[in-house]
Amino acid sequence: MEKQEIKNKLFSRLDKYCRIHTTSDPRSETYPSSKNQKDLARVLDKELKEIGMKNVSTDKYCYVTAFLPGNVKTKKTIAFLAHMDVSPAACGKGVKPKIHKNYKGGPIDINSKKGIILTPTNCPPLKEHIGDDIVTASGDTLLGADNKAGISIIMTAMEYLIKNPNLPRPNIKIAFTPDEEIGRGTEKFDVKKFAADAGYTFDGDLKGAVEAENFNADFVEINIKGKSVHPGTAKNAMANAARIAAEICSSWPENMTPENTDGYDGFIMFDEIKGNIENASLSGIIREHDIKKLKKMEKLLLKIIEEKKQKYPLSQININIKEQYRNMKSVIDKNPQVLSKLIKAVKKSGIEPVIKPIRGGTDGARLSFMGLPCPNVFTGGYNYHGPYEWISLDSMYLSYKTLINICEEWTN
Ligand SMILES: [Zn+2]
Repeated sequence: MEKQEIKNKLFSRLDKYCRIHTTSDPRSETYPSSKNQKDLARVLDKELKEIGMKNVSTDKYCYVTAFLPGNVKTKKTIAFLAHMDVSPAACGKGVKPKIHKNYKGGPIDINSKKGIILTPTNCPPLKEHIGDDIVTASGDTLLGADNKAGISIIMTAMEYLIKNPNLPRPNIKIAFTPDEEIGRGTEKFDVKKFAADAGYTFDGDLKGAVEAENFNADFVEINIKGKSVHPGTAKNAMANAARIAAEICSSWPENMTPENTDGYDGFIMFDEIKGNIENASLSGIIREHDIKKLKKMEKLLLKIIEEKKQKYPLSQININIKEQYRNMKSVIDKNPQVLSKLIKAVKKSGIEPVIKPIRGGTDGARLSFMGLPCPNVFTGGYNYHGPYEWISLDSMYLSYKTLINICEEWTN
């Protein structure tokens, strides 16, 4: 009975939030990057007040925060976070969530007219969700379970804790943030003022997933100055910058590119190459979970550049490597309770934690280095950022239970 009631609440919230258009805009210079994120912020601000949260506020940058005082002796304050924006990679306007109850196996018709059909062949994890209630969009848009499922889970758990004051809980802080999808979700966030001891972003994917490691990330830019002369008299006199750029790119080992790596293997991806005989440039990203291996890859790249300098003495080649973000593991390792309590909480929900590295960065990673150790927790969704996105309401329920269990874990 109770499970069904919670699932109903989770669905009605997810449905409501997904219908509000909150696509973030990478070209915008404002905070939040798109005005429509404020529409969801207003709804959430009002709802947090209605369920009985304290100190509810929305600041000018669109951070919605709230507080729930603890009811045990511990002075610890634990935070739960989710982001309000959806990815600009697909249309996020006019989302109409659809519920497919009691999944029996086989295809799920998202929009057969458009040929958008979810099957166990194009998405094998579906097979593990027989009997679940599955939510999709309607074929024209993404769903936005990333990350409105996280908001629904947090909101529903807070409502439950407030209605059951006998359940032990630490001090709890909530933050709903804008612009995560464009990498700016924490830029204006005042971690000191927020003042929590540990945080959890509910922004993961598959059932049971716990993510406390992400990439170390650097950015590389290589500029090449060539020497242009008439091609008829170019022998031993020309340096073709464009050709040198292409050669650098193809000298990078294929087994260290994103197309050929997964799990803990790192890569360099050159994502822009442009130029002519006189000038050329290459830029790219460098990613690796292990900082020592990151530095080793960079050494290899520097060696390649050195070789090209020798080979093309008429050219000038400059390389510049800049730090982007670091693996939160180093912060979590110093605060092991943050992860061990999460793992216990997942197990207590009756599932085995799937501990996996993030092949990217998260708001949690940035927050960890700003002073709030912050692993990422599953919500139960798949195929984010496109029309095939789906989420299991039953997995959302397990994520919700994990959140309640995290609270209990922090009272002892
Ligand atoms: Zn997300």
